[in-house]
Amino acid sequence: MSTVSISAKGEARIASGHPWVYRSDVTQVAAGRGQIVQVTSRRKAPLGYAFYSDRSEIALRMLTRASAAPAPQVFRDRIDAAIAYRESLGIDATAYRLVHGEADRLPGLVVDRYGDYLVLQALVQATDALLPELTRVLVDRLQPAGILARNDPRVRLLEGLEQRVDVLHGVVPEVIEVREGRASYAVDPYKGQKTGLFLDQRENRVAAAAYAHGRALDAFSYNGGFAMALSPRCDDVIAIDISEDAVARIVANVARNGLGNIRAHAMNVFDELRELERRGERFDTIVLDPPAFAKNKGAVPKALSGYKEINLRALKLLNPGGILVTCSCSYNVSEGMFADVIASAAADARADVVVVEKRMQGRDHPVLVTVPETYYLKCFVVRKL
Ligand code: SAH
Repeated sequence: MSTVSISAKGEARIASGHPWVYRSDVTQVAAGRGQIVQVTSRRKAPLGYAFYSDRSEIALRMLTRASAAPAPQVFRDRIDAAIAYRESLGIDATAYRLVHGEADRLPGLVVDRYGDYLVLQALVQATDALLPELTRVLVDRLQPAGILARNDPRVRLLEGLEQRVDVLHGVVPEVIEVREGRASYAVDPYKGQKTGLFLDQRENRVAAAAYAHGRALDAFSYNGGFAMALSPRCDDVIAIDISEDAVARIVANVARNGLGNIRAHAMNVFDELRELERRGERFDTIVLDPPAFAKNKGAVPKALSGYKEINLRALKLLNPGGILVTCSCSYNVSEGMFADVIASAAADARADVVVVEKRMQGRDHPVLVTVPETYYLKCFVVRKL
């Protein structure tokens, strides 16, 4: 068995429950890229087993803190457990996350279900090397019609892995039809954002619908997910996204669901909120679901001012009794920071605003309690009095 020794600082990190050890805390390596290695202290005390990367700053991702090597069927067992958990949730959709990396004790592996198909991502050297085995396990367990590897995220470059998209099993069509609640979507698994849909917002779309009324605005709409969820409870819905491609998806999804009260526009939300305000327009329900404004710590101050601006303008556009569903998916912006932004936006808007619900990414994307950054998606439902 290959081994990697780590410093006292690395040891303390593992003891704190964090699954990652940085290269700066590695003291000795007798292992090759992407191997499963035994992790030891400097004095060779066993600390557990991990995925090793010879490239990434994250050198080790812990699999177990036991002193015995993981059983040969460890990945089968963990995939089984991850799937059984999702099956227990009673999800009213045919698209959802089956495996969420570290939170399922499968570091660097994401598996999403889209109807009869699976779309996976191997984000580290070890899961990339294990793809044949992982594919066999998934085929045995779920008999999917096809498995697509969306191995094109940029993070793979940090591992020295190329960005590529491959069919690993069966046949994967260019369009997969899935259902989420009452809405049906056409998903492009090869080119859609992430693995095709923003699955992490599924439960927030359902929650938003429960408050929706009157005239609605879905800002940063992508393929119209929130707009379609709000539509049955609203008089009319405006969906905006900066991308023409996204707007084409919204228009197609709206047509396939026969939702006559949604209009979609390709616009910059920052400009459009200002323009709506200038025209004196008002809404009863607004959703703000921007992309991550803070991709790293350095970008946090600018991100906070971006969040502040859109939340301030949205609160001004709301009628009394109106609902704002406001999200941040920046893991560098904590729930507390985001709450402060909303509070300061409310103060500047001279509005009395109450929080009626605090939400996060869906239950199929669990948060590791020892890694606060895995709580990346914050979603507040607030009401203007
Ligand atoms: N609400 C969507 C996911 C949104 S992802 C869902 O539930 O599925 C963020 C979207 O914001 C992307 O589609 C991106 O094209 C869009 N976007 C990014 N910057 C924008 C801007 N300044 N104005 C409008 N849309 C923007």
